[in-house]
Amino acid sequence: MRLAYAASPNLILFASFIAQDLTTMTNSFFPPIRTLMGPGPSDVSPRVLGALGRPTIGHLDPLFVTLMDEIKGLLQYVFQTENALTLPVSAPGSAGMEACFVNLVSPGDTVIVCQNGVFGGRMKENVERCAATAIMVQDEWGQPVDPEKVREAFKSNPKASLLAFVHAETSTGTRSDAETLCAIARENGALSIVDTVTSLGGIELKVDDWGADAVYSGSQKCLSCVPGISPVTFSPRAVERIQNRTHKVQSWFLDMQLVMGYWGGDSKRAYHHTAPVNDLYALHESLVMLQEEGLESAFQRHRRNHEALVAGLEAMGLAMAVSPEWRLPQLNSVLIPEGIDDASVRSSLLNDFNLEIGAGLGALAGRTWRIGLMGYASNTANVIACLSALEAVLA
Ligand code: PLP
Repeated sequence: MRLAYAASPNLILFASFIAQDLTTMTNSFFPPIRTLMGPGPSDVSPRVLGALGRPTIGHLDPLFVTLMDEIKGLLQYVFQTENALTLPVSAPGSAGMEACFVNLVSPGDTVIVCQNGVFGGRMKENVERCAATAIMVQDEWGQPVDPEKVREAFKSNPKASLLAFVHAETSTGTRSDAETLCAIARENGALSIVDTVTSLGGIELKVDDWGADAVYSGSQKCLSCVPGISPVTFSPRAVERIQNRTHKVQSWFLDMQLVMGYWGGDSKRAYHHTAPVNDLYALHESLVMLQEEGLESAFQRHRRNHEALVAGLEAMGLAMAVSPEWRLPQLNSVLIPEGIDDASVRSSLLNDFNLEIGAGLGALAGRTWRIGLMGYASNTANVIACLSALEAVLA
């Protein structure tokens, strides 16, 4: 009697499952094959997708630990650094950003934050959530950060202990002079936090030569890996500041002193969190591909394809939003001509040509399109496909 009673709820469930209309069942998801020419994620190469599907092994397996060491070495190569604390944070670029701020900012600190687009605004948020004061240096969207304004901000705020800025502002397609900005931070006894989410692998970035202190990036832009991983690197000066903290880092997950126990230099790796094993196979493969090509050649490829795209756009009568000196080759901001409906052009490109380009963000929403030529997606075939699709849609 008791047995029958215990079994009955399962039986009812089973019966209702059988009775269910099979058309309401959720099926496997098969995405279309798109060409990703927006602000990211960018196209992932078949080699990287192949690596993603390899058998999962334990995240403390000795073979996996060897792979972690290789990833660290490859990241040091792409960041152009010898920083020992160089690793992929197991979460997207925003987590890399947060890792830099929560580890280096203490309550009561003053941080100079440069804003010339969306992502400088997020830096301000991070500073304030660390109970510190953000001194904002504002530049127009589409213009680079002005080093003179940064010098002035240090003069007026001599206690500022950090300078934070975005190297490649994805919302506008603008590069800033990271080398000069890092030098200004050093001259003023401050550390620098540099967002290289869109620059890493696409344009020159020399962490050691420029003296950048805490640098974060993302896997889904010029590394052409799947989204969800954030490479970071910290200079010895930044590590010293982290080690001398008197306030506990507010985030347990992103506390670098704890993460170091897993990603640190010795062979004894302590469990901190379960690494995204297959995503790291993918990251490893994308970094191997970049190393095979060579950083310089990758930068030149980005530049060549950018120049071809701009020539084609200008031949169609379209104008670029950023002046040539500060344009990012991997993210091309195009002014939308008068009378053209932004959203309907983008949806025709997506639906009729399987081609994704990005909308303008924030102050540039409705005024620009953002055409990405990032990593694996920066190739001649994509330039031609994008120009001919745009021409057809705008005709
Ligand atoms: N910083 C910049 C410059 C970005 O372009 C992005 C994303 O596009 C981020 C930070 C945030 O990265 P994620 O979306 O991977 O969290």
